[in-house]
Amino acid sequence: MIALLFSSFLSAQEFDILIKGGRLIDAKNAIDKVMDVAVREGKVALVAENISANRAKKVINAKGMYVAPGLIDIHSHNFFGTEPNAYLSNSFTALPPDGFSFRSGVTTLVDVGGAGWRNFRIFKEQTIDRSKTRVLSFLNIVGSGMKGGAIEQNIDDMNPKLTAMVAKQFPEHIVGVKLAHYSGFDWTPTERAVEAGKIANIPIMIDFGGSQPELSLETLFMEKLRPGDIFTHAYAHVNGRTPIVNEKGEVEDFAWAAQKRGIIFDVGHGGGSFLFEQAIPAMKQGFKPNSISTDFHTGSMNGGMKDIINVMSKFLNMDMSVNEVITKATWNPAKIIKREDIGHLSVGTVADITILNLREGDFGFIDTKGKRMKGNKKLECELTIRDGKVVYDLNGLAAESWDK
Ligand SMILES: [Zn+2]
Repeated sequence: MIALLFSSFLSAQEFDILIKGGRLIDAKNAIDKVMDVAVREGKVALVAENISANRAKKVINAKGMYVAPGLIDIHSHNFFGTEPNAYLSNSFTALPPDGFSFRSGVTTLVDVGGAGWRNFRIFKEQTIDRSKTRVLSFLNIVGSGMKGGAIEQNIDDMNPKLTAMVAKQFPEHIVGVKLAHYSGFDWTPTERAVEAGKIANIPIMIDFGGSQPELSLETLFMEKLRPGDIFTHAYAHVNGRTPIVNEKGEVEDFAWAAQKRGIIFDVGHGGGSFLFEQAIPAMKQGFKPNSISTDFHTGSMNGGMKDIINVMSKFLNMDMSVNEVITKATWNPAKIIKREDIGHLSVGTVADITILNLREGDFGFIDTKGKRMKGNKKLECELTIRDGKVVYDLNGLAAESWDK
């Protein structure tokens, strides 16, 4: 009798977690309405309009909040380590994933270019294998990775064949190739990165560095990159690189043509790559980024960038909808990195889930020149679930009251 009661009790609580009453934003499944989401054994078990609270061991009340797939940041720097003077490759400027990801709703980080083919294994053992956050990689076309200075200018260390070879050895972790910071009037680095991307059948991301005279952005977009390749730091205006908004305040025709051609415009905010004088006119003319990302490292996180939620909030206050900013940090990046197994909450997929709160009030946002834009909306990360487990809970939504 007792056994019978016990078994019926178990079957009654078939879900581990039930998120009730939140507004679900799931672009892949074209959902933007109040829906309940149930999780069992690390997977999304059921998505429906009204799932009974009795069926779950833990119920999270998300009324008035947004429920989204775990955020995917496709421009981050997480190859932290203790090598002196090695910038973002096994050194002090990169950041450990779990200390920063979950608190801003991020469940997948893509380190772009920290490691090259020579040191990817160190990155894997040191960071990827030790993180609860899903950490993916764009291999730097420079074999030694993003160590700054002369190392990143060494064309002799840009080997498409070996880069593609290591990428193909670790397809579950390596999702792209990165070229960054090259300065010089020379297409060779771009061509080598694209070549590696072609061999491994993965996209490349380019931080177009700089040169005097400037290399043509139009040529880059229309002739060098393939549709699906990523132009990061879209709203930057730095020496030696043509901005996408010209002196008249107009988005360049070739930028429109490039986006139409399938070139991906990624925010990559960073510590020096996001200006309101670029972003605001671009947004007013309807030129929007394909993906919202941070360019996360010690040089960006305490400036205007802060975290991905803050960058998303900037775009909210430039008249993007909540649905749109979430889509550009979930399903869009998943498609861009060809990881369509994540970035949505279809039944059966891994339960990486973020609950966001939209606050209203008087807020301010800072760009990388230190200029301020006022705003009245701000997203906040309430709770993050990774692999079916609550990994961050700002206000204790998933916790029991202390006196129970
Ligand atoms: Zn970067």
